[in-house]
Amino acid sequence: MDEHQARGRYAPSPTGALHSGNLRTALLAWLWARQAGGRFVLRMEDLDLPRARPGAAAGILADLRWLGLDWDEGPDIGGPYGPYLQSARQTLYDAALARLRARGLLYPCYCTRAELARIASAPQGGDEPGRYPGTCRDLTAAEQMNRAAQGRRPALRFRAPDAPITFVDRVAGRVTEHVAETAGDFVVRRSDGIVSYQLAVVVDDALMGVTQVVRGADLLTSTARQLALYDALGYPRPAEYAHVPLLLDASGARMAKRDASLGLAALRERGMTPAQILGMLAASCGLWPAGAPATPGVLLAAFAPERLS
Ligand code: GLU
Repeated sequence: MDEHQARGRYAPSPTGALHSGNLRTALLAWLWARQAGGRFVLRMEDLDLPRARPGAAAGILADLRWLGLDWDEGPDIGGPYGPYLQSARQTLYDAALARLRARGLLYPCYCTRAELARIASAPQGGDEPGRYPGTCRDLTAAEQMNRAAQGRRPALRFRAPDAPITFVDRVAGRVTEHVAETAGDFVVRRSDGIVSYQLAVVVDDALMGVTQVVRGADLLTSTARQLALYDALGYPRPAEYAHVPLLLDASGARMAKRDASLGLAALRERGMTPAQILGMLAASCGLWPAGAPATPGVLLAAFAPERLS
């Protein structure tokens, strides 16, 4: 790996076809990486297999290619840091969990969904909503055995560092979050054995040498937790973060993949060309004049991230 070359990525979850909001995020990640002269990695986040839709991963790759985006490494073409499917990377996640465990940073949490929901809704001690209060943090071995004997399967939680974490986001600016106070100790492996998004994304981005994380603004509140894991695992933090605005639907709500009317297929059926769609996506965030078609190359030449709106 050339240490000076930027490495960006797009990491879709194959839970359905990409909607225009996802496509716009993919376009922005691609523009950001290519403008830096960097490589672009495509990773399929299919860890949560029960939610993965058959055919969705192939459809996502086909849609991105149809639009004219390209990548240097990915599930379809391989690359030096594969596999590029999360479902094939379990041993890497297990190794990371083992390292955290060896450092005493994990503990089993036996709380049920109902208990967690009750905690989240109780008006208590100034805790942020959704903060895990540490119920299982200091259980004795006997208490753990007792809960296990009731047939409860534990999740694994990571002990959140009790110090603020600061990073600079290319869109949001300087962000500081004290994870122990906002999220509390968070889940790195669910009780069904599936590794959490927070852990998987850190292991993958770190081992794939990703230096540039461009993704939707909905993930801004995950970044401090992820940086805590980077630090605990001894990985260097990514050099650059950019959390780009989410595209809203006509009613001003967040788009959902289940709404097929927002996908590429619907736009294609209306006879739109890739250049018209790319122009529309770029115009929707202030990067391009409305109504003008554009190729990836033209958008790249004109890309000015400070104009993002
Ligand atoms: N897989 C996530 C999603 O589709 C994105 C994760 C990331 O970019 O960090 O929303």
